[in-house]
Amino acid sequence: MINGIKPLERSLRWGMVGGGGTSQIGYIHRSAALRDGTFSLVAGAFDIDAQRGRLFGQSLGIAAERCYPDYATLFREEAARVDGIEAVSIATPNNTHFAICQAALAAGLHVVCEKPLCFTVEEAQALVELSQKQHKIIGVTYGYAGHQLILQARQMIADGLLGEIRIINMQFAHGFHAAAVELDNPSTRWRVDPRFVGPSYVLGDLATHPLFLAETMVPQLKVKRLMCSRQSFVKTRAPLEDNAYVLMEYDNGAVGSLWCSAVNSGSMHGQKVRIVGEKASLEWWDEQPNQLRFEVQGEPVRILERGMSYLDPIALADDRIGGGHSEGLFEAWSNLYRRFALAMDATDRRDRDFLADFWYPDVAAGTMGGRWVENCVRSADAGASWVEFR
Ligand code: NAD
Repeated sequence: MINGIKPLERSLRWGMVGGGGTSQIGYIHRSAALRDGTFSLVAGAFDIDAQRGRLFGQSLGIAAERCYPDYATLFREEAARVDGIEAVSIATPNNTHFAICQAALAAGLHVVCEKPLCFTVEEAQALVELSQKQHKIIGVTYGYAGHQLILQARQMIADGLLGEIRIINMQFAHGFHAAAVELDNPSTRWRVDPRFVGPSYVLGDLATHPLFLAETMVPQLKVKRLMCSRQSFVKTRAPLEDNAYVLMEYDNGAVGSLWCSAVNSGSMHGQKVRIVGEKASLEWWDEQPNQLRFEVQGEPVRILERGMSYLDPIALADDRIGGGHSEGLFEAWSNLYRRFALAMDATDRRDRDFLADFWYPDVAAGTMGGRWVENCVRSADAGASWVEFR
């Protein structure tokens, strides 16, 4: 159980790029990173508008001289200080992630980056190599993966409670962009512009979340080939899709499907993962994150509740308040940031034993997301044909 005691003796000196006062996601990064005292926010380049970013940083209590106009200045100036930052989080639009990650690693910083980590397999490979060379980690904020019942599902599957896995159904299908809301909303506008998001909208923006949840639950399954069909129901978004279906075949003979959509009218989030085995199934839905459905063939449905003693220790380890109380996305993110801090500290100490079975969404997770999107786009652009996963 997490009870407020700092898991590290120190706090990592931390900065942010993006996530400014007008951003959607900056606040949850700060809330999560600062929750357990593992990070202290001492610098940033928070905004594409340098003046707005400076004022915002100062409003957070950061010294004026450490609120920088851009990320290059942030990394250069902080590297010159004895008390410079040790880690940085990147919460900017997608097209900037790769370049900022590269610059951060080159400056000797640990990185937490928003998804999608990058757009191509080559970029992903370059980040893997640079992070190894620099002995620095990249954590990726697949925030939903911090919900405790995701690790419960992982353990139950590893324990064989489902038997051989046959089917994985994934979806992230909300309705918030059923109309062209980007005309009035700057946070949506860049999401449907290829200059900012590369070759995809909902595949990169939404689908990578349930894809990673399923990967976490069933890490042994590898995608062998896939087929993707994508549509732009709001026509002005073409060639970017606002809806897509993906079928997958895995190396053990299992099959999977993933529906991602921003035009699922009436749906709030609609992010679900259902894992079907030969004996039983598990289902998790992000709108009810404190419950996990366990359905054994021929028996009544069981609803496993977060925080209960019948759960596996791996799920209880991240419990922040006993069962019955609701935990939410902010707690899930805090669990991830706590893990990022522990991984950074262990990496700095070269503690390979600790890192050997320590789970967190890492550079491999980010790499898989970018690679998967690239394969989906290749399939869709070839007329929704099956392509070997590469
Ligand atoms: P947003 O448009 O609301 O905010 C972007 C922020 O980045 C703004 O503060 C902007 O001024 C700043 N910015 C832009 N370019 C910059 C640069 N070069 N240097 C410094 N600051 C810069 O976007 P958002 O919705 O907050 O999304 C940001 C990122 O977070 C995206 O990659 C998105 O995919 C991701 N995101 C992830 C989740 C999740 O669940 N993990 C949820 C929402 C968004």
